[in-house]
This record gives sequence, C-alpha cells and structure tokens, in this order.
Amino acid sequence: GIRWIWGHAMPVADDQPGQLFRGVMLDITDRKELEQRLQQAATHDPLTGALNRAGIEPHLESSLAGAQRRSQPMSIVLLDIDYFKNVNDSFGHALGDSVLVQLVNTLKRRLRKADSLARWGGEEFLVLLPDTDPKGAFQLADALRQAVEQATFEHRQSLTISLGTATANAGDSLKSLVRRADDNLYAAKHAGRNQVMGLIEKPESMES
Ligand code: GH3
Ligand code: MG
Ligand code: MG
Repeated sequence: GIRWIWGHAMPVADDQPGQLFRGVMLDITDRKELEQRLQQAATHDPLTGALNRAGIEPHLESSLAGAQRRSQPMSIVLLDIDYFKNVNDSFGHALGDSVLVQLVNTLKRRLRKADSLARWGGEEFLVLLPDTDPKGAFQLADALRQAVEQATFEHRQSLTISLGTATANAGDSLKSLVRRADDNLYAAKHAGRNQVMGLIEKPESMES
C-alpha cells in the first residue's frame, strides 16, 4: 500500500560538487491512516455507510451558494420510512437495521452520479440534487418511491417511503430550504404516505 513520509531538510555547507542536505524523514503512515479513519467516522453513518448530517452539510451549503450565484436550480428531497416502528416491533431492531442498509442500497442504485444521499436522522434521509428544477426533483423522488415499493427486503414485507421535495430560491438559507422539504414530507405523510409532495402538481406523465 501507500506509505506516508514526513520530511524536513536544510542545505548545509559542502565543498563537494552538488548540494548536501541534512534532515530527517519520518514514516507517518499510522497517523495518516488514523486521520482518515477519524474523518470517515465524523462524516459517515456507521450502519449504512451513507454520509451523515455533518458529512453532507458542506455539500449542501456549497451547492446552495453555487446555485444562487449562477441563478441555477438545485433541489433536495427529504424522505422517511412509513410505519417503520412496526418493522422494529414485529421483527426486531436488528432486522430494522438491516432494512435500513437495504434501503440505502436501493436508493443509491436509483440516484444519478452527481446526487448525494445522507442519513439525516433515524430513518429519515436527505438527497441533494444539484442542477435540478422542481419537476426534475419530483420525478426523481417518485422514482425513489417506486424503487422502494418494488424492492424486496429481508423481512419480505412491503415497505414504503414518503417524500418531500424543495427547490432553492434566491433568498433561501439551508435551514429554510430543509424546512420546506420537511413541511412537504409532513404533507405527504398526512395525505396517506407512499407519495411525494413538492411545490408543484403531480406532472401529467406520472399519473397512474
Ligand atoms: P411514520 O409513517 O409516521 O413515519 O411512522 P414511523 O413508525 O416510521 O414513525 P417514526 O418515523 O416516528 O418512527 C421512527 C422509528 O424508527 C422509531 C425508531 O425506533 C426507528 N429507528 C430510528 N433509527 C433506527 C435505527 O437505527 N435502527 C432501527 N432498527 N430502528 C430505528
Ligand atoms: Mg417513519
Ligand atoms: Mg421518522
């Protein structure tokens, strides 16, 4: 593998041709590996391997600022598993954990390369969609909803998610953007779950 070497050297007087340096070299591979493990632990969820809140926040901030600077859209999706308490109650917490892992894999398979996924809370996830307008956010959110609905999970019971989308506008802070997505997620729960709510109507093409 890679070895990391830290070096420090000073030129010293020498009558021979060329230049003589005197210094030290230290193998700091262990320290670098520890640093990388700490960095990974600080920014990722250990259960699912997805980014955690601290891990995605810098991406959210820079994506929001970039979108506002360039007057380009960017959207987010907040999603929460429907009736997840029942999964834990009926099949146990360990099975619940493995459903969370499977959910992340299902969502990741459906996302585009530029999108990022984070575990925002217990069984709540946030997706960052750069360069995505409200219609695109709705379509991607509904594709995620369908992917979960069609997936087979370890407990072999149907599992659904509710989703809320929000698209940044000029005056948004990260907080106000997330609040809007959260309000829409709440509306999706309230309207009966297993659905997407955003600021726009359901596009025609998505009516079933
Ligand atoms: P709703 O449709 O309203 O969202 O119903 P719900 O049962 O999913 O309700 P809520 O979102 O409030 O429930 C969250 C549940 O998720 C409760 C908690 O025990 C469970 N949960 C949160 N984090 C984890 C975890 O890491 N592992 C497991 N197994 N369960 C978790
Ligand atoms: Mg839930
Ligand atoms: Mg929840």
